[in-house]
Amino acid sequence: MSIFSGFENIISENCPLRDYTWYGLGGSADYLIRPQTTEQLQEIVKRCHENEMPLRVLGFGSNLLISDEGVRGAVLRLENETFCNSAFQQNTLTAGAGANLNKLVLESVRKGLGGLEACTGIPGSVGGAVRMNAGGRFGDIGSVVRSVTVMDRAGHIFEKAKPELVFDYRTVNITAKVILQAVIELTESDPEVLLQQVKEVWIYKKNSQPLDTHNAGCIFKNPRGLSAGALIDRAGLKGTQVGGAVVSEKHANFILTEKGCKSSDVRQLIDLIRTKVHKQFDVDLQLEIELW
Ligand SMILES: Cc1cc2nc3c(=O)[nH]c(=O)nc-3n(C[C@H](O)[C@H](O)[C@H](O)COP(=O)(O)OP(=O)(O)OC[C@H]3O[C@@H](n4cnc5c(N)ncnc54)[C@H](O)[C@@H]3O)c2cc1C
Repeated sequence: MSIFSGFENIISENCPLRDYTWYGLGGSADYLIRPQTTEQLQEIVKRCHENEMPLRVLGFGSNLLISDEGVRGAVLRLENETFCNSAFQQNTLTAGAGANLNKLVLESVRKGLGGLEACTGIPGSVGGAVRMNAGGRFGDIGSVVRSVTVMDRAGHIFEKAKPELVFDYRTVNITAKVILQAVIELTESDPEVLLQQVKEVWIYKKNSQPLDTHNAGCIFKNPRGLSAGALIDRAGLKGTQVGGAVVSEKHANFILTEKGCKSSDVRQLIDLIRTKVHKQFDVDLQLEIELW
């Protein structure tokens, strides 16, 4: 009997993940699971834990590279309405992990609530953005998140709030498996001024990043005080190609894919960049994207 018996209607076996990621690459998950209720999610998480089955949570797949061999074990997708709802109450936004961050940025701006503008153009879910402390030169989501509701591997649900909740560069100290919800503290502001700020962030990104391509945002984290993109550029790697994977000419920290590209092409190009940058500048580039 399958460990997921009784949940057949929310489980796809041997499910290709490429359609769920921005890169559009890679193989299948043994099980893709779409819980419809928190209780279902709890039971699934518990069964995986009891049976020592690897479990991952997939957001909008905008920071992931799935291997060509796919992913063993279970992958959760919190796409049901239960996990995507959001509500504004005065200055506070309570957002489900599956909610679309970009839509919430615009909704907040329309309501004259500031704080999320730095997340303009980041194509992720609220859960993924919290996990990655998504942001950039204009700020990051961690600065406005007051608390999160999470579920651990045993299915226990609890809240973690600041000051125990600590965000750092592209990371947060959440060890629980699943982020369910975030409470975001916004500030009353003039909608026109906020809209102007959103436009500025958007124009900056449009001018500096290859946004109209298949990619997963920045591949590497910026080493302290340095720009990963600038190092890759100075190593002469713009336009370097392995199979169907190419270093962007517009922003060297982006790897683009051409038709027929395999996940392994991107991985090999990542290794090549790391080796060359290390050789030339003695800097070890750390990945910002996750390899599954
Ligand atoms: C064109 C483009 C531009 C980008 N620009 C930026 C940028 O400016 N700044 C920036 O920081 N990032 C950027 N990114 C990367 C990416 O959008 C962010 O990291 C985003 O926050 C990832 O969210 P996601 O929902 O897609 O997460 P995924 O990519 O699906 O997952 C990322 C990680 O979050 C975890 N995760 C997702 N949901 C949950 C959950 N509910 N509970 C627990 N863990 C979860 C996953 O397990 C994984 O570890 C960009 C990506 C693209 C494609």
